[in-house]
Amino acid sequence: MGGTFDPIHHGHLVAAAQVAQECRLDEVVFVPTGRPWQKTHAVSSADDRFLMTLLATVSNPRFDVSRVDIDRPGPTYAVDTLTDLQAHYGPECELHFITGADALASLSSWKDHRRIVELARLIGVTRPGHDLVDPGLPGDTITLVEVTAMAISSTECRRRAADGLTLDYLVPAPVAAYIAKNRLYLR
Ligand code: ATP
Ligand code: MG
Repeated sequence: MGGTFDPIHHGHLVAAAQVAQECRLDEVVFVPTGRPWQKTHAVSSADDRFLMTLLATVSNPRFDVSRVDIDRPGPTYAVDTLTDLQAHYGPECELHFITGADALASLSSWKDHRRIVELARLIGVTRPGHDLVDPGLPGDTITLVEVTAMAISSTECRRRAADGLTLDYLVPAPVAAYIAKNRLYLR
């Protein structure tokens, strides 16, 4: 599951946990982006986003965090993420790419999207406010999964932090503590 994770929140975690169970995945690897080519807002440092993702996932033995996108120079493209993960986990490993409904809708504009569906099976998850539609890519490789609706976004979390509002119960407690301690998102 790729993302900016700026910050990671319970919408990400609920989606990952429910998809893992429904699709019988051995593990979910969270992959914080390096420089996301589509994002315009100022993104927190890769180290802050990596550490928050680690704090949020460390208690779950089936969750892991990868630095492949953070350590690769230049903008992040999913096709490179999947290529690096396949090389890391080996040919026996079957990759699935978990994407929320909003991101899935734009998938056909992603770099080498045809290669993406060769490298991984796509899993599209529901997200409040977005229609979950099959992007109609070649091959029969997409699974659509309905997950508990969590109307949380990182954008809203950043805005709340900037306004001095609590992030309690939107993000895991250690993530909220990390944001407060490091004064992230303050104007
Ligand atoms: P931002 O507001 O900064 O775009 P975000 O909340 O959309 O942040 P991302 O890091 O952009 O989070 O999302 C990573 C992945 O998680 C994407 O595939 C996105 O669709 C999915 N996702 C994010 N929030 C939810 C949610 N509440 N429910 C389901 N999927 C989600
Ligand atoms: Mg987003």
